Order: sequence, then C-alpha cells, then structure tokens
Amino acid sequence: MSLVLVGSLALDTIEAPAGRVEDVLGGTATYASIAASHFTHTRLIGVVGSDFPEEGQRVFEKHQVDLAGMQIEAGKTFRWGGKYAPNFNDRETLFTHLNVFEHFNPILPEAYHDSRFLLLANIHPSLQHHILKQFDEHPFVGLDTMNLWINTALDDLKALLKDVDLLMVNDEEALMLTGERHYGRAARDLMDMGPEWIVIKKGSHGALLFHGERIFSAPGLILDEVIDPTGAGDSFAGGLMGYLAQAGQVEFDIMKRAVINGSLMASFCVEDFSIRAMDDLAPADIASRYSSFENLTRF
Ligand code: AMP
Repeated sequence: MSLVLVGSLALDTIEAPAGRVEDVLGGTATYASIAASHFTHTRLIGVVGSDFPEEGQRVFEKHQVDLAGMQIEAGKTFRWGGKYAPNFNDRETLFTHLNVFEHFNPILPEAYHDSRFLLLANIHPSLQHHILKQFDEHPFVGLDTMNLWINTALDDLKALLKDVDLLMVNDEEALMLTGERHYGRAARDLMDMGPEWIVIKKGSHGALLFHGERIFSAPGLILDEVIDPTGAGDSFAGGLMGYLAQAGQVEFDIMKRAVINGSLMASFCVEDFSIRAMDDLAPADIASRYSSFENLTRF
C-alpha cells in the first residue's frame, strides 16, 4: 500500500566536526520520504521555490517518490542552517529562512485520496491537521513533532493529537508534553491525549513502543562513526511508516518490526550528510542491518 507524507523540503547548511556542507537536500519530508521509499510507494506533499535544483528533483524520481503533491512557487526554497557541538549533543540553529514555506498551503492531490497511511512529518501542527482533514476516510496517521511546537503551538498540537493513531516523540518531548518523569507514565498520559500507539525515541539509546499495556524496547545500534545526525528522527518516522504501509495492517508484532526498520533507517541517515547514506541502499544492506538489530537483543 502507499504512504502519503507531508513535511518540509529544504536546502540545508550543516556544520559538523566532519566538515561543512552548503545547500544540500534537507527538510523533514525529504528524509522521511527517502527512508519510506525503501519499503513502499511514497507520495509527497511539500513546497519548494523556483530555485530548487534539478538534482534534488532527480533524487526523488530515483526513489519513485510521487511528486504530484510538490508545489513549486516563485521565490526561494526554505533554507535552514545548523551547527553541531563536537559531542553531537548540542545543535545550534544558525538560521531559518522560511521563504516559500512561510505561505505553504498543503493540498492533498486527488490521486492520493486512496492511501490508507499518512505520515505527518515534522512541521507546524496546524499544517499537519490541514492535510489530515482533506482525507475522505480516516487513514492510519503517524505524527512526528518537536519541542518548538510544544512551546509555541500547544493548543494546535493537542487538537491534532485527538486524530492521531501513532505519536513519535523523543524522550525530552514526551516528558515536556506530559510533565511526567517516567516513560511508562508519560506514555499512558500521551495515550489519553488520543494516539493508541506511542513511540518514545531515546537518540542513540534506541526507542520504546507502547500500546495499551504492551511495551517493546528497540536497541540503539552501536555505530563506529556519526557524520551528521540531521534528519535522524525524520528517517526513523519514514522507515517506520513505510514499513507499516508495506505490511498494510497494524498490529503489535508488525509495529515492533516497523520500529526496528525506523531505527535502521535512522542509523543509515547519520552516517553521512543529507540523505546520501540512504540514497544507494540495496535491499541486502537493509536486511543485513536488520540482522544486526536482531543479534543485539537475541539471548
Ligand atoms: P531534525 O534533525 O529531525 O530536527 O530535522 C532537521 C530538518 O528539519 C532539516 O533538514 C531542516 O531543513 C528541517 N527544519 C528545520 N527547522 C524546521 C521548521 N521550523 N519547520 C520544518 N522543518 C524544519
């Protein structure tokens, strides 16, 4: 089955210990769609400016990402700059130039209406809600969000959460949203806000899945080198939702494997700048990393 996703399309400038790159392909929808495309047919909704490079377009085409929902507006593409501290724990935003993204009015193309899975990649919750409301029939909705919206758009986020099936947040955001200090209690509070499925991401330490009384813990892979953590969360969300859409149904065992596939896409993402490490992956690379996750926890 196919997956629809909406998010930001950007040209990023990244400063990291391994070097600096300028105007590389970025944005939450970019990472999520390339990750998802390794599992299922992916349909993108986003906006770029008339300066968006052909090279960027070709990356999506290479992965057969449907671009019917990509709007091209007169003006400049959204640009974002980030700088990492040597330990990768701290990231400083150097600049955010919204450009054409400032007036983004996401529209669900007619041809996308039959998709049963929707990923709301990280953008303002009111834009995410706007897309969801355009579906005739409620799809399975996965939501990625961030501390910025918890701080600045909490009412919009809470209204959206009522219509969401799966919430993906990092540990800090889960605790911020609920005021709880323990993951189990935070997950229960988050379920009370709407989503039946909660994933709490713990960065390089893995992820926790909660559903009713059931819990699954996914390990973090031990990587030799991290080049650029930008987009890891978006790649996680894309891998997870791409796998779910491929499976075509949602149950606990499938969701466990979806969390592993999300984790492995995030682990590829951080190995290079932009989407480079996910660009040339073969199914065998994905299968081999899947085994690495299995071997880490089988005893
Ligand atoms: P992450 O590393 O998961 O925080 O995602 C980084 C991506 O988010 C970058 O590629 C940016 O282009 C994009 N981004 C940064 N700020 C925003 C924003 N305010 N809205 C949407 N996307 C953003």
